[in-house]
Amino acid sequence: MKRVLLYFLSIFILISCGAKKKTKINVDTIKSKFASRIVTSELDTKVYILASDVFEGRETGEKGQKLAASYIVDYYEHIGLLAPEGFDNYLQEIPKEFFKEKSKSASENVIAYIPGSEYPEEFIVISSHYDHLGKKGDNIYYGADDDASGTAAVMQIANTFQDAFKAGYGPKRSIVFLNFTGEEQGLFGSEYYTSHPIFPLESTVVNLNIDMIGRIDEKHEDKAAYIYLIGSDKLSKDLHKISESANKIFTKLELDYTYNDENDPNRYYYRSDHYNFAKNNIPVIFYFNGSHKDYHKPSDTPDKINYTLMAKRTQLIFYTAWEIANRDESLMLNKN
Ligand SMILES: [Zn+2]
Repeated sequence: MKRVLLYFLSIFILISCGAKKKTKINVDTIKSKFASRIVTSELDTKVYILASDVFEGRETGEKGQKLAASYIVDYYEHIGLLAPEGFDNYLQEIPKEFFKEKSKSASENVIAYIPGSEYPEEFIVISSHYDHLGKKGDNIYYGADDDASGTAAVMQIANTFQDAFKAGYGPKRSIVFLNFTGEEQGLFGSEYYTSHPIFPLESTVVNLNIDMIGRIDEKHEDKAAYIYLIGSDKLSKDLHKISESANKIFTKLELDYTYNDENDPNRYYYRSDHYNFAKNNIPVIFYFNGSHKDYHKPSDTPDKINYTLMAKRTQLIFYTAWEIANRDESLMLNKN
């Protein structure tokens, strides 16, 4: 009798392990199917538009920044993303005074989201800044890498999650797409958002922030498939693990943690919009290609972007976000 029971028990275990394995493979296939829609042609169209003459370098409070905001708004509307409740469009207006003389008018963050199916009150924020340095005389500071690249990536990730949502694979947690203004003048857009949050910071589980992901720095000229990650283990080792595993399974980039070192003199962890989330104890990853000779110069133009590599990096962010959005466990914070 005992032996019969043992026999059935082992059969049952075998079947359920098989089912589990099969489900995992299926989910990976589904993820990959959507990630494969993050392609160079979609990204380069967006970067060329954002970094075109028309937007005049997207300086905070200027005409070019407003046009860039409208471009992002139209895109979100077109793909059918939701605006936050109570918004009649996707704009969070920031009063002129908030910019401390650094903007000649009020300026706007652009915000859209996809509601989660199981944990809609938990939020994953994927962000970039869309402002840049404007123009000086006849020189337009195009900011193709800084940060039209990140903005195009956020838009494309939004489109891909929305495609998945429409196909019945919506995220379990809500995903927020946030395009900041006022970064170049001193992280104003993200400071305003985190002091006037649209989605509660207490239930914001992570911020994946993208600032410059289209270029290759001097250190990596010979072995191009890399990205610098900053912050991934600082507040949640769990986040670091998820990010590492998404890369190991899917994108296989070289993840360079040079700038994650607390003693690194560049202190990038403190220098882009994610820091306003990190200081509120929200785990962050900052995705960055490192500096280059066109950084903050008019010569940061769209023709110098490596779109193939940019697509890979964007896919890594998509896979990481997917895992955080859909796993049953919450992200564990490190114990101090
Ligand atoms: Zn930037």
